[in-house]
Amino acid sequence: MGVWRVEPIDRNGRAGYAAVALCLALVPVHLALLRLTGIPFLVNCTFHELTGLPCMFCGLTRSVQALLRGDVAASLRWHALGPIIFICIAVFGAGCLLAALTGWCIHLTAAGKRAVRVASYAVAALALVYWALRLAGASFAAFPG
Ligand SMILES: [Zn+2]
Repeated sequence: MGVWRVEPIDRNGRAGYAAVALCLALVPVHLALLRLTGIPFLVNCTFHELTGLPCMFCGLTRSVQALLRGDVAASLRWHALGPIIFICIAVFGAGCLLAALTGWCIHLTAAGKRAVRVASYAVAALALVYWALRLAGASFAAFPG
């Protein structure tokens, strides 16, 4: 019993995967344009604005921006889970692009879906622990700015 199988997809499915892959590919372009132009993010973190404390996700965008520049150390300083999130999104985007280009798609079996669910819970638990450490002021998990 495997965790995934490859199945053909129809024309509409390929278009859908192409649209998702295109949207994901535009994220780094958008982040690079913001950095190059110096335009600030238009949306500030409401939790941070109200409490002065970082929310669970504060720094993730800048973490991914740093990763796209190849600065892993800065990425980890902004948010330790930034690289993990980036890799998950990149793998998902690559899968969508591959499905759009080939007409074949990876479908998870019930065991595969269970494994993804367990991994998702693990990442969520890790994010909660990391957030608690940031709020407690742990030096390696401090909010950098
Ligand atoms: Zn936030």
